[in-house]
Amino acid sequence: MSVLLEKARQMLADGDLCDHCLGRAFSHLGRGLRNVQRGRALRTVLNMEGFIFVENEQNCRVCGGIFAHVRQWAERAVAAVEGIEFRTYLMGTHVPPAIESAESALKAHYELQGEPFKQEFNREVGRLFGAMLAERGQSVSVDFLEPDIVFVMDLESSTLTLQINSLFIYGRYKKFVRTIPQTKWPCRECRGRGCARCHFTGKMYQESVEELIGLPLLRATRGSGTAFHGAGREDIDALMLGTGRPFVIEIKEPKVRTLDLEQLQQEINQSAAGKVEVNALQFVKGSVIERLKNTEAEKVYEAKVRFAEPITLTQLEEALKRLRGATIEQRTPTRVAHRRADLVRTRRVLEISGKLLSPTEAVLTIHGEGGLYIKELISGDGGRTRPSVSELVGTSAEVTELDVLEVRGDFLGTES
Ligand SMILES: [Zn+2]
Ligand SMILES: [Zn+2]
Repeated sequence: MSVLLEKARQMLADGDLCDHCLGRAFSHLGRGLRNVQRGRALRTVLNMEGFIFVENEQNCRVCGGIFAHVRQWAERAVAAVEGIEFRTYLMGTHVPPAIESAESALKAHYELQGEPFKQEFNREVGRLFGAMLAERGQSVSVDFLEPDIVFVMDLESSTLTLQINSLFIYGRYKKFVRTIPQTKWPCRECRGRGCARCHFTGKMYQESVEELIGLPLLRATRGSGTAFHGAGREDIDALMLGTGRPFVIEIKEPKVRTLDLEQLQQEINQSAAGKVEVNALQFVKGSVIERLKNTEAEKVYEAKVRFAEPITLTQLEEALKRLRGATIEQRTPTRVAHRRADLVRTRRVLEISGKLLSPTEAVLTIHGEGGLYIKELISGDGGRTRPSVSELVGTSAEVTELDVLEVRGDFLGTES
């Protein structure tokens, strides 16, 4: 008898094992076989050699016959996805400690390295689940990295939980009004519970870019909520113009994933007309959010500036000449010092141009490196930003209107 067969004989002689658990101990042997087939084959050959071990699943000293419940788990999974659209899934199992320790004791004792119980159980339930859906004409597949849905089977408490993963939609938005924040902003007074100050809406502002874009998407996907991830954010009183700001909107727990994004784009742009406009909507992976957060995109701004004293065109042009290509030292602005570390950082002004509207008013176009503080570049922030427009023209200067014209950057890895 081969060493392999002798080992199997010894294992069965020492105590009951079901075909799954017997076969799993030898999962590295044989191609295209299920563990239950390996176990059955070993038992059959042993029988022909005269060693008769009848399988009694319930007595399996590793799993106690839990594989007999695979069909029930698969049926529960099928029931759980009723009315939920998905293409990829992942099965997960919380394994009772008793099974885990029995399995590792078995492996240690017979010096075997089969696959873990959990892996086989997930696969067995998954293949039946997939087959049941296929019978209904629905084709789904396992995805270990970014599945649409995830099941967790808790074998101890016998509960199945279904997690519906978020759907991510990328696009660019423009904002045409100075009164709308980028994201939902809970009321400062009641922290969202609703009070007289916020007219019991729980919000500081009745609308946000997030809601104007998100509500039509929530309706279409029947999701439970949104999270908005922008490539930076403009101040509430700044417009976002030009090519728009890249964003990813995350739809939580969507029940529908097949969307006509062109149609939805039109719907958003109609319902938010005059306030917000989106373009280039497309499905992306969640990893794009990291790129949005980690890329300090170059930006182009248009700023209206008011000077305390009248200045001449020559003064303005001299100042702009000094700033063009200059490296600016900026100590954390006073207006954000309460929430950011106080440090000095340097950013370049890549291009700057402008014209005087009157002796005390100018409009400037500034193309800066990512992270350049524009309001402070103009005002000097009491000497914390140097050089600045104010310092160079010799009178205090302040931004009265600030608009973002462009946010440059390769966020999808496809733009150039
Ligand atoms: Zn077993
Ligand atoms: Zn309130």
